[in-house]
Amino acid sequence: MQREVTTTVRVKLHSLTERKARLVEREYNAFQDAVHGDDDANLYSATKQQAGKVRSNKNPREDTKQPVVLRNDCITIEHDEDTVLSSWWFKLPIYNPELERGDSIWVPAHVPKKDTHLLDDEYIRDSELVHRDGEWYVHLVCKRSVAVADEYDDVLAVDMGAKWIAVSMFLSGRDTQFHGAEVRRVREHYKQLRKSIGKAKIRQGAQVIERLGDKESRTVEHELHQVANELVARARERNAVIVFGDMTGLRFVNDKGRYVNDKTHKIPYAKMANILTYKSHLDERECIPVEEFDTSVTCWRCGSQNTNREVQGRLECDDCGLEDNADKNGASNIGKRAVGKNIQSPLSTVGAVVAQPETQVVLKGTNGEMESANPPDDVGLTLSEGSPRL
Ligand SMILES: [Zn+2]
Repeated sequence: MQREVTTTVRVKLHSLTERKARLVEREYNAFQDAVHGDDDANLYSATKQQAGKVRSNKNPREDTKQPVVLRNDCITIEHDEDTVLSSWWFKLPIYNPELERGDSIWVPAHVPKKDTHLLDDEYIRDSELVHRDGEWYVHLVCKRSVAVADEYDDVLAVDMGAKWIAVSMFLSGRDTQFHGAEVRRVREHYKQLRKSIGKAKIRQGAQVIERLGDKESRTVEHELHQVANELVARARERNAVIVFGDMTGLRFVNDKGRYVNDKTHKIPYAKMANILTYKSHLDERECIPVEEFDTSVTCWRCGSQNTNREVQGRLECDDCGLEDNADKNGASNIGKRAVGKNIQSPLSTVGAVVAQPETQVVLKGTNGEMESANPPDDVGLTLSEGSPRL
């Protein structure tokens, strides 16, 4: 199965001659004028079209700077070992005021070594020219197709964002790991800092808080990447497909939704889902969202929703008496749902599994490691993408 993987490569432009620096800056400023409504701004024609789109789609505020959108057929990046300045050169489309028409300039570029294999013209999509801390960068968007495996030996179910950033559990043995406790501490740390700064002096405090926010989000993002790396490595150990609870479609109409709602405030959930999916696909591994609805309030063992979480972090079932870690319980239900089980029925009573031949992923080798309420013969079934949702 093919999956599209998009990577943004940050390319730094450097050693610009005075003339080229002037042309880049002129283009950037003209783009700002154009997105803020100046129809007469002189820009490279394709870039001017993009400015029109940014203006109508985003209607950016007057005091904001927008990255210059560069159409993919107007940009090129080339490798040249022989040149003195740089082994990479980027061709940037600009409007040339001396010629009074569109033109392009070649600019020395620095490409992170790990990304050089991505810079094939056929992968490059519309990209952005960005100005940050006095430097010019091009964020090159590279999109390519990777083949993910069709067969797996296990399912790694991932529940995100409760007490930990992620809890992962192999469906075959309920063998569980908790990931990213650090994030909680980061959040707490900055929350406390913000409080104490906020009290001290309002105006200065606000500035510091702004900077803190930036540092905090970078720290958190780093943590998300770490967690995703851990999850993918763990899935690799047992050749498992990754499935995760998808919170995007949830509505919070009742009490039961509240727990999940709380979760979405604790971690940048969509970002985590994207990073995990991306890294998983890069590892040629399928990564499938499963609807998370009810997974946190349903007893994984008997399917009852007659449950409570009176004790922090624990789930108790008032019907079958299960006492379990709440996140582990959630992950179990996500895993069950991924293999087509109705989570409100005991596993032992569930019969056939819905499978669509074209998307079917065969799960082999899941065997007798399940707990007693989870007979092994009910697990070695098929996993179908999309359909096993309630
Ligand atoms: Zn129960």
